[in-house]
Amino acid sequence: PRLANQIAAGEVVERPASVIKEILENSLDAGASKVDVEIEQGGVKLMRIRDNGAGIDKEDLPLALSRHATSKIQVLEDLEAVGSLGFRGEALASISSVSRLSLTSRQASQENAWQVQTEGRDMEATIEPAAHPEGTTVEVKDLFFNTPARRKFLKTEKTEFRHLDEVVKRLALSRFDVAFQLRHNGKVIHQLRQADSQLEQERRVASICGSAFIDNALNVDVVAEASGLRLWGWVGLPTFSRSQADLQYFFVNGRMIKDKVVTHAVRQAYADVLYHGRFPAYVLYLELDPALVDVNVHPTKHEVRFRESRLVHDFLFRTLHRLIADMRP
Ligand code: ADP
Ligand code: MG
Repeated sequence: PRLANQIAAGEVVERPASVIKEILENSLDAGASKVDVEIEQGGVKLMRIRDNGAGIDKEDLPLALSRHATSKIQVLEDLEAVGSLGFRGEALASISSVSRLSLTSRQASQENAWQVQTEGRDMEATIEPAAHPEGTTVEVKDLFFNTPARRKFLKTEKTEFRHLDEVVKRLALSRFDVAFQLRHNGKVIHQLRQADSQLEQERRVASICGSAFIDNALNVDVVAEASGLRLWGWVGLPTFSRSQADLQYFFVNGRMIKDKVVTHAVRQAYADVLYHGRFPAYVLYLELDPALVDVNVHPTKHEVRFRESRLVHDFLFRTLHRLIADMRP
């Protein structure tokens, strides 16, 4: 089982950022309205994620770290089969196989919290009582301490943190209703309160994307009557001078995606007004009937497949083009 876990860990646990993504998604799945993330040394030394979600039942605590249906993968030749299993139900098991992990949780109905710990191997389920408010804390220390080959592939602390921060930003932009805090080496990087009103949402966007973006952005909120497609969010003015391709956030039904159809439609909409070397900057949300889109094409990538990509392309292009043409100087 240890080999299996480490193989799968190679798929799902590439770097601190991928660990954070899995753990934060669990917190959001658990209905948390507040998530605190504490990082040391780009995440390699420590990642501690605390949420106020529903928590995990004492009996389920060891199960949360164990892998289902993986005993089949015993030899390296089966490596390819791992991909087809998908990663569902495997994230914590994989992470725990390549780190020192502790999971502490308390449900509302429990008098105290319970904790399980592992050190890079399948745990001997020792459950101990612990002090913890309602919710869950996952602590991941010494990532890849037992897989030196993988550790060697990590970049500098700064680079690893940048990737991790990007994951937090994306999730924070996808869930205005959740408060996020991120600290790195003791320093507060993000302190984001729940944002209900449009003003509060814009404050969050400003704090993540910079006030220069939001100050120069146009508000979008358009619904296509025939198809029910809705596009809302913010598009940067073409005069916005940040010539980097990193301010491009597009969410489909709440999930950040990168998609050729979307990128093309947006680029086309900006085509008349983009100066050489500039990129469109946007934070946009597309909402559509879930039946019209497959989001889980690949769980660790950001792909989608639109059932009617033509419809989506035309809606995005027409909506944005009209807006952008209007704001031409
Ligand atoms: P998956 O999320 O695909 O089920 P994971 O390995 O990520 O697999 O998590 C295993 C299980 O542990 C989850 O299904 C969930 O029941 C529980 N769990 C993990 N993190 C949390 C959390 N922060 N709050 C509540 N339950 C959690
Ligand atoms: Mg998960």
